[in-house]
Amino acid sequence: MRLLPVGVSGSFPGPETPASSYLVQVTAAEAAAAGHEARDWNVLLDLGNGAFGALQKHLDPLTLDAVSISHLHPDHCADLAGLYVYLRYHPERGSLRDGGRGAPLPVYGPSTAEGHVAQAYGLSEGESMCHDLEFLSWPEHPKVQVGPLVLEPHRVFHPVETYGVRVTGPSAAGGTATLAYTGDTDACESVVELARDVDLLLSEAAFVEGRDDVVERGIHLTGRRAGELATEAGARRLLLTHLPVWNDPAVSLAEARGSYAGPVDLARSGTVYEV
Ligand SMILES: [Zn+2]
Ligand SMILES: [Zn+2]
Repeated sequence: MRLLPVGVSGSFPGPETPASSYLVQVTAAEAAAAGHEARDWNVLLDLGNGAFGALQKHLDPLTLDAVSISHLHPDHCADLAGLYVYLRYHPERGSLRDGGRGAPLPVYGPSTAEGHVAQAYGLSEGESMCHDLEFLSWPEHPKVQVGPLVLEPHRVFHPVETYGVRVTGPSAAGGTATLAYTGDTDACESVVELARDVDLLLSEAAFVEGRDDVVERGIHLTGRRAGELATEAGARRLLLTHLPVWNDPAVSLAEARGSYAGPVDLARSGTVYEV
């Protein structure tokens, strides 16, 4: 499988990249080798502001198999309104979506996601999104199979109901691989379990040591805390993401390298990471 960051900017879109959104993709050949339907599989982790536009550079949104939303801050879910319009009004929706079956697209997320997105879109009275987006709450779905991919949510430490997601699927090199996406979180036991022994840890690192960590805890990781997480969990590779525009990326990277001896890099939108 591969991870393709669509947007990596922290807390709001930046001039070069949208807010958080990450594609996890499995090719038809990998799916077939793993005993699943031989077609490309596409799962999207978060769809923050600005990301729906960039997403269309990589695939037709009608071909998404599932969406996972970590939490309801706009930098992780605002563009669900655009996705809804695309699914509802696209002229070829009926023939392209779900192999012509036209089933609604599953959207896993916090328990209040459906009402939140309906309000953000401005749904009229009597109108429902359920024919296009099927909202499913993470607490009621602790383990989800999407073709060759298995998704497992872990509640993490942020001011609102937030889930990191662990994704297991066919490795690009053969066998099975696992990646974990933290969503937004501060350090906690649950995020260590989320990241336990993963091949790739995609970790937010919005805060900077000495600048933000003295303000409040329970919101974000720093580069150092992301590195500590990777070390404690035994992650084999670390990608930092969700840096707001005012961060110096070199500082966040140096923090992470000070607390984690494995390979560390910044997640870059449009770059493919084989897992
Ligand atoms: Zn965020
Ligand atoms: Zn947040």
